[in-house]
Amino acid sequence: MTAPVFRFAPSPNGELHLGHALSALTNRRMADRTGGRMLLRIEDIDLTRCTPEYEAGIYRDLAWLGIAWEEPVRRQSEHFGEYEAALERLKRDGLVYPAFMSRGEIRAAIVEHEASGRNWPRDPDGAPLYPGTDKSLSDRERNRRIDAGSPFAWRLDTGAALARLGRPLAWSEWSDETLVDKTEVDADPQQWGDVVVARREIPTSYHLSVVVDDAIQGVTHVVRGRDLYFATSVQRLLQEMLGLPAPTYFHHRLVLGPDGRKLSKSLRHTGLRELREAGETAEGVMRLVGS
Ligand code: GLU
Repeated sequence: MTAPVFRFAPSPNGELHLGHALSALTNRRMADRTGGRMLLRIEDIDLTRCTPEYEAGIYRDLAWLGIAWEEPVRRQSEHFGEYEAALERLKRDGLVYPAFMSRGEIRAAIVEHEASGRNWPRDPDGAPLYPGTDKSLSDRERNRRIDAGSPFAWRLDTGAALARLGRPLAWSEWSDETLVDKTEVDADPQQWGDVVVARREIPTSYHLSVVVDDAIQGVTHVVRGRDLYFATSVQRLLQEMLGLPAPTYFHHRLVLGPDGRKLSKSLRHTGLRELREAGETAEGVMRLVGS
């Protein structure tokens, strides 16, 4: 049997915080426990928000925490061609459609709907689902808009993908870090509606690049925070549509802020760099995150 492969996959669009420290430490520990490898992946598809300074900060913070990773590091911005090939396959199979509605148009459709007293469906993160309108456009109308230069994203036709799969979808989730027990979790990608697989200004998306990379890098164990638990449904469906293997997952607890909410990159006082500069030690960080 080949060694398990873990990965820590931060985005360099802000300083790492205590939540990232917990994630990286958990990955490292589980990799060590299983004699596995730990990869570091830089998720920098959003070239307007990601910077080399934040990327350098990731290496500095991890080294400070005493966390080792394998070289070379995969940087997503260097692999757009691989994500495009996956998108082409989804296009060929009729599983994606061009979505032209702007944020304002979506908002207007929702306001109109809710004015009649009915709630618009929302995804597990609370964002409204994309209206199905564009799915029923004729090929002729689609081509007309594309030729006219209308901006659009590619969205997954989730219903079509599930119909093509033709059987229930699930993922395996470890019960805890000991990797002894796992359970099968029913996946429900419909709760996300038709997700974006390639953005207007970026030829891929978070979901598409994650599943392509996990497969290319041979990742067998995806260990990340509970905030991405429900996203697994979408990623499993994409794996099935692209013929990619399914890793086993473990979604660890989140480090919460003093207000009981999930930490964000804008909460400066929990940033690893800030803590270090204030004299905190790596051992102190481990205590803070209970790791
Ligand atoms: N890049 C994502 C983040 O920064 C994590 C992706 C993943 O672990 O699947 O939250």
